[in-house]
Amino acid sequence: MSETLNPAAGDDRTINILQLYPRDMNIYGDWGNVLVLKQRLKWHGYTANVLDYNPGDGFPADVDLLVGGGGQDSGQVVIQEDLQTIAPALRAMAEDDVPMLAICGLYQLFGRFFKTHTGTVIPGIGLLDLETHGGTERLIGNVLSVSEEFGEIHGYENHSGQTFLGPGVKPLAQVRKGEGNNSKDTWEGARYRNVVASYLHGSLLPKNPAIADFLLQQAVIRKFGAFEPRPESASDLDELARLSELARQHASQRPR
Ligand code: GLN
Repeated sequence: MSETLNPAAGDDRTINILQLYPRDMNIYGDWGNVLVLKQRLKWHGYTANVLDYNPGDGFPADVDLLVGGGGQDSGQVVIQEDLQTIAPALRAMAEDDVPMLAICGLYQLFGRFFKTHTGTVIPGIGLLDLETHGGTERLIGNVLSVSEEFGEIHGYENHSGQTFLGPGVKPLAQVRKGEGNNSKDTWEGARYRNVVASYLHGSLLPKNPAIADFLLQQAVIRKFGAFEPRPESASDLDELARLSELARQHASQRPR
């Protein structure tokens, strides 16, 4: 999967995707989000250059889109120290409108901290104005949420952490089925600049192509000034739209 950023990365149609901590933070196939972005970019006539970043690696320059997944509490402990070393770069990228997708465990650590149910405090990077408190009960099951920006969002949650948003971020969506950020309010995920954060696995993007296209379009616009798709194959995009719609309908009928 991992490919190094090549000298051609500066050409006029290449988007550099950085996958953050795929070794330790990639549960429920969150890696699938990168595959969707890569394939959809290709279908829109762009090239994706995917680079993995794991603890201890050099942090690459010229990242156009950043994606990170969920993890067990133990995975979060493994990456926490390294995450602090790249925190200034990540915060600067977010302020510079680099699109980012952070799922579950990484979503939590993009906030101020995650205090696990055993009392361990895993510091976050404060990129998002939120905090997470581990509970004894796990929030598990299918989720249907609704967002003004993206419509219905379908996915699957499994977390002990309960996340509470501060005024510096907006919720991604409102939950119709399931719990979302916590068992107290009705919000799911968070939005800030071009950052999309969510508890939802699945992976998220195959069933929610509107979010995938938002992320890749922001990356393209930020880099090249405009999104000018040159569809390689309109029939592939049509077939994919049909399949993702089927997946969405199927997901909406699933019990909690
Ligand atoms: N370990 C965290 C929690 O349980 C995140 C879980 C996840 O990423 N699925 O809340």
